[in-house]
Amino acid sequence: MFDKLFSSFSQDIGIDLGTANTLIWVKGKGITIREPSVVAMHKKTKNIIAIGTEAKKMVGKTPSSIITVSPLRGGVIADFDATLAMISHYIQVVHEFGSVFPVAWARPRVVIGIPSSVTEVEKRAVWEAALSAGAREAFLIEEPMAAAIGEKISVFAPTGVMIVDVGGGTTEIAIISLGGIVVSKSLKVAGQEMDDAIIHYVRLRHGLIMGDRTAEDVKIKIGSAYEHSQKSIVKSQKSKENEESAQDSELMVQNPRERMAIVRGRDIETGLPKSLRLTEVEIREALAPVLAQIIEGIAEVLQEAPPELTNDILTRGILLTGGGSMLSGFDQLIVERTKIPVILSEDPLTSVVRGAGRVLEDDQLLQRVKVVGGLK
Ligand code: ADP
Ligand code: MG
Repeated sequence: MFDKLFSSFSQDIGIDLGTANTLIWVKGKGITIREPSVVAMHKKTKNIIAIGTEAKKMVGKTPSSIITVSPLRGGVIADFDATLAMISHYIQVVHEFGSVFPVAWARPRVVIGIPSSVTEVEKRAVWEAALSAGAREAFLIEEPMAAAIGEKISVFAPTGVMIVDVGGGTTEIAIISLGGIVVSKSLKVAGQEMDDAIIHYVRLRHGLIMGDRTAEDVKIKIGSAYEHSQKSIVKSQKSKENEESAQDSELMVQNPRERMAIVRGRDIETGLPKSLRLTEVEIREALAPVLAQIIEGIAEVLQEAPPELTNDILTRGILLTGGGSMLSGFDQLIVERTKIPVILSEDPLTSVVRGAGRVLEDDQLLQRVKVVGGLK
């Protein structure tokens, strides 16, 4: 009976608790919150100062009394209190705007996407964080499953599908068939590692120390996985076969022009600020080892899969999603190395939350895919 009462005050929500971004889906409304997964707090008292975008602005700029933390590192809860603070904060925000009843009465049902490889203890920690944050019921679903559902893939079919979700802290690689995850792997190599590789490269090559934010900006602005000229050669070969090379040869002339970016940092020798011009070629070189590791992970999961499923994937392709999938040419690099077609998500930052949302709106689906859940 209380259940009914609570549900009339509450808005059920789906959460993508990402290492880089937290997204919230409100039942019947869609995505209402997209914020970086960052919490700023007082170092000693642990009092929360800011959450989300505001907190991310403070990263790398805080005085010694304030720290900024990413509650989720490597796909697991690295800071339980910060995670709790974040979840409760968003539950409140959702209810402040959507309800005429006091926030304190809100006891929503919550569906949370978690990496497939988290341990039982970690799952329990996320689950408890949601309940302590005010959830009436909390359900956990595996992120690759959520991503697949978000991308409207038929996960219950007896056909294998491969999902590769390149996030901030982790890359989730999974093969789904008949509504379950058959093989999976969670690599601690993803967007953050790409940023680190750029920082490392620039430091070694140019003696410049750059910040995390700068490195991420450079990656997003001029980062690429695959050489354009190579790409256009491939294209023009294809087009020769199709006998329509005129358009593509134009591309070939334009494409070899690689992009550039000016970055600022600190000179390692003088300690003074210095700016520098970086080229797309350099960034590609810096990123190559990281991308190779991700592709290696994909190969390993394929090797562990039963042959019938491998066959399905060879024909259906790999679904590539997560923010890291937006790295220019990453799909082409994967195709070249694995010889498997790649399908890019059209909206890779929201696959998981869209999936969590669909699960939230469909009770039958929830019962079939949840890994942990129910009443406390
Ligand atoms: P998570 O699920 O772990 O929160 P997301 O799927 O939100 O991660 O992806 C965040 C990552 O995607 C960050 O590392 C960010 O730098 C990266 N990213 C965002 N846009 C791009 C882009 N255009 N090119 C390459 N990487 C990108
Ligand atoms: Mg994610």
